[in-house]
Amino acid sequence: MAEKSAVSRVEKLFAVKGMNDILPPDSAQWEWFEEQVRAQMLRHAYRNIRTPIVEPTALFVRGTGETTDIVEKEMYSFEDKLNGEALTLRPENTPGVVRAAIEHNLTYDGGKRLYYMGPMFRHERPQRGRYRQFYQLGAEALGFAGPEVDAELMLLANQLLNDLGLRGVRVELNSLGVASERHAHRGALIAYFEQHSELLDADAKRRLHANPLRILDTKNPAMQAMVQGAPQLLDFLGEASLKHFDTVKTLLNACGVQWNVNPRLVRGLDYYSHTVFEFVTNELGAQGTLCGGGRYDGLFELLGGKPTPAVGWGMGIERVLELLKVQGLTAGSLAPDAYAIVAEVSGLAVAMQTLQVLRSQGVSVQMHAGSSDGMGSIKSQFKRADASGARFALVFGPDEIAQGVVTVKSLRDGSGAQSTQILSQSEQWAKSLQSPA
Ligand code: ATP
Ligand code: MG
Repeated sequence: MAEKSAVSRVEKLFAVKGMNDILPPDSAQWEWFEEQVRAQMLRHAYRNIRTPIVEPTALFVRGTGETTDIVEKEMYSFEDKLNGEALTLRPENTPGVVRAAIEHNLTYDGGKRLYYMGPMFRHERPQRGRYRQFYQLGAEALGFAGPEVDAELMLLANQLLNDLGLRGVRVELNSLGVASERHAHRGALIAYFEQHSELLDADAKRRLHANPLRILDTKNPAMQAMVQGAPQLLDFLGEASLKHFDTVKTLLNACGVQWNVNPRLVRGLDYYSHTVFEFVTNELGAQGTLCGGGRYDGLFELLGGKPTPAVGWGMGIERVLELLKVQGLTAGSLAPDAYAIVAEVSGLAVAMQTLQVLRSQGVSVQMHAGSSDGMGSIKSQFKRADASGARFALVFGPDEIAQGVVTVKSLRDGSGAQSTQILSQSEQWAKSLQSPA
């Protein structure tokens, strides 16, 4: 026997690097987060949108931008074997939402406020807070030009993070103005970087003409001082752009949200305009950006739609959950209200009927599962009941079943108190098993 299994042992398979299984009990934290999100979105009148995980590669090349890290090196792209179509696992979902909005003419009768949650895929070097399959929550407001919607979206993200209980998240803010202002700034920026060409690294040299704004975003410590002295886009903004920016700041102030202007916060793409922002924590090391967003008034046209102003953000769910953990904020326990102990196989039918009634009344019950030989000893079943964390054991012994009752035993308060309940009245006493909300 032993020899045979050694010869025929099948090799184990593992998840793809950087793609995580989310297992209980951690998955409870995810479900709790998702519930909070749905409630918050409802309160802000944002509606759910679900788009495919696979999109045409061209959508991201155009909609995310050819000179971004994502398109340059992070996409999972492949050819559809059947028709040769170039496809990509979505690395972000703003382009998908905008594509859907154009395809279904979503904004024909006015603006739409939308949100989504789901997996995104980027071929990055896996590390804490940076995965190859990760999850984003995103909110997008399509068809609204006014600064009040920029502020509304930021207030929404802020409220969500606050209501989760998170502390110490700061808000960074900048304005990218409009295309003509960025163009003037771009000239000044290239001239400045050319004066300091000896300090530019290979990435920066490559971006110098393709996308100089992105150089401001560099993480290279050797370039920091030089980049600090670069011409600031804010100094190139005209009156209308400054007014838009001021309104956003005023509304945030009025609603008690503190912010800092970070002139180096850029989204180096031409379809971005006006407000850009990030929600950042210092408690997650280098992966401290929880949420990033901005106004992207040019994206609809770039994807073949009618000019449509729009603004939105994306939030990394793993990072938010990690910060909750760091700050000791975990959701309530997963323990069931009750654990059903069934002494004999002949008692299963009555026990399971009762559990159905209790569950329909909102009680969470875990039933003891036996083996192919039977239910196992009462002692071993009580051990399982204890390990489950349940507050009560429901004992379906032969005597109980014969009398049409169940013994309810308290497991958690140390009293060992027990009572007898009549099975035919389970709807009435069900509530007494539920933990106080
Ligand atoms: P970073 O500078 O950290 O690479 P980014 O600019 O690529 O971020 P966005 O495209 O703006 O990030 O995505 C929005 C949010 O999604 C980020 O702020 C972050 O919280 C999260 N995020 C991005 N990439 C990953 C990843 N690989 N793993 C986990 N979360 C991520
Ligand atoms: Mg990135």
